[in-house]
Amino acid sequence: MSLPFPSPCMNYIAGAWSPATSGATFDKLAPADGSVLSAVANSSASDVDAAVAAARAQFDGGPWSRLPGSARGQLLHALANLLERDSERFATILAMEQARPLMEMRMLDLPMSIDTLRYFAGWADKLEGRQIPTAGFMGRPTLNYTVREALGVAALIVPWNAPLMIGIWKIAPALAAGCTVVLKPSEDAPLALTALAELAAEAGFPAGVLNIVNGMGPEAGGALTRHPGVDKISFTGSTAVGRIIAADAAPLFKRLTLELGGKAPQIVCADADLTQAIQGVAMGLFVNQGQTCAAGTRILVHRSRYDDVVNALADAAKSVSVGNPLSEGTTMGAMINARHRDRVAELIASGVAEGATMVAGAEAIPDTGFFIRPTVFADGQAHMRIVREEIFGPVGVVTPFDSDEEAIRLANDTPFGLSASVWTNDVARAHRMAGALRVGAVAVNGWSPLDARLPWGGYKDSGIGRDLSRTALEAYTEEKVVSLVM
Ligand code: NDP
Repeated sequence: MSLPFPSPCMNYIAGAWSPATSGATFDKLAPADGSVLSAVANSSASDVDAAVAAARAQFDGGPWSRLPGSARGQLLHALANLLERDSERFATILAMEQARPLMEMRMLDLPMSIDTLRYFAGWADKLEGRQIPTAGFMGRPTLNYTVREALGVAALIVPWNAPLMIGIWKIAPALAAGCTVVLKPSEDAPLALTALAELAAEAGFPAGVLNIVNGMGPEAGGALTRHPGVDKISFTGSTAVGRIIAADAAPLFKRLTLELGGKAPQIVCADADLTQAIQGVAMGLFVNQGQTCAAGTRILVHRSRYDDVVNALADAAKSVSVGNPLSEGTTMGAMINARHRDRVAELIASGVAEGATMVAGAEAIPDTGFFIRPTVFADGQAHMRIVREEIFGPVGVVTPFDSDEEAIRLANDTPFGLSASVWTNDVARAHRMAGALRVGAVAVNGWSPLDARLPWGGYKDSGIGRDLSRTALEAYTEEKVVSLVM
């Protein structure tokens, strides 16, 4: 079978495919069995220089800078149509490089990626300014208006857990706004995003508008975020790397969007519809093998429903089908790499050592590849590492509460603030809790309904700014005021 992705996986700079200037490569492994999927360009600062120069040339007076918004929108629509045409190919690449079930790619990542391209395509010719009345200037009337101008060259740094979708969350608003882009995929998931550059070329984007530089985070990523030719950084990844990037951005005051980690609470109230709640809580826990920033790993349950929820979640974990991501019946694949698998296993061991009760996590899993058993703990307590740290694996911990106030206090007792779920049939309670939770997104009777039209981002250590929605579009622009004194 021919490979569905470009191999070796190179850089795409100024409309051409190139290896790293040093010739260096690294191996991208298949998490499902540890085999080598592809050699990948291992770039250094000189590759980043070339990509930023190509992006600058298009932004600073190149053909892209003269394209009207409607033409940028048409190009984004063309890219969306090509991705729709090639959906099955991209779902397969993602399932192979991430070891995530093909079904999840078909249901979530591909439809969301295509929808996001179309949503921002529609904004490209609607970047309107405002006319603002004032008292005038020294007795003379003024006409004041604002214009939204593209920021410049955007450096986009993307994690491995939903590479195509999160990459497009950034590419689409950047290009709609008129910026040009240099994107560094994660070394753990470079294949789908690099293949996207083929479609961008076919769609007709001018060479240099979208550049992909593969490589390691500190080397290629660091060279990109520190590059003086970059005006804006949009990063999704860990809170630790977010801090490094914020420091890298500071000397030149580069505009910054940071989407960082999470430790989402899922609050199950006494009056919740338990059938609906269990299904949703399990989804929030196990989708993408728990490797999502919004993973609802802290499950807070009213004491009157505690035993029911613990038992039902244990059953849900035991019914997960762990295995080959390309097999139709599989509902959970592998962790992204051996190091990450070992870290998740170590956190599970810490849960046992700190006294939590493991109620699911002993089922058989494949013995090749980087698999972890879906695991549920009961009797979670605030000091435990499994309650405090982002695990990024299929591990949940259930804790009882006695009052709404206690549930809110436990939910907010974390440095993170990305998202939360509340399960209740009481509308007033739902709104009270939504108002009291210090997070960027609250789902009531559901789990993280991500949509291109809704802002996505966090409070506290979960980041700065928002992806998606009009908010993200405006974050790729500056607002200029023009005042005409009459
Ligand atoms: P990392 O922070 O390790 O890496 C994210 C990206 O940054 C990768 O492309 C990485 O490259 C790159 N990188 C690493 N070091 C540097 C550096 N010094 N300078 C520039 N770039 C660098 O995160 P993960 O990839 O492990 O992703 C998981 C994290 O992402 C979790 O914490 C998760 O919560 C968060 N996340 C947040 C989301 C949100 O919307 N808030 C959504 C999804 C995930 P390389 O991989 O090659 O090292």
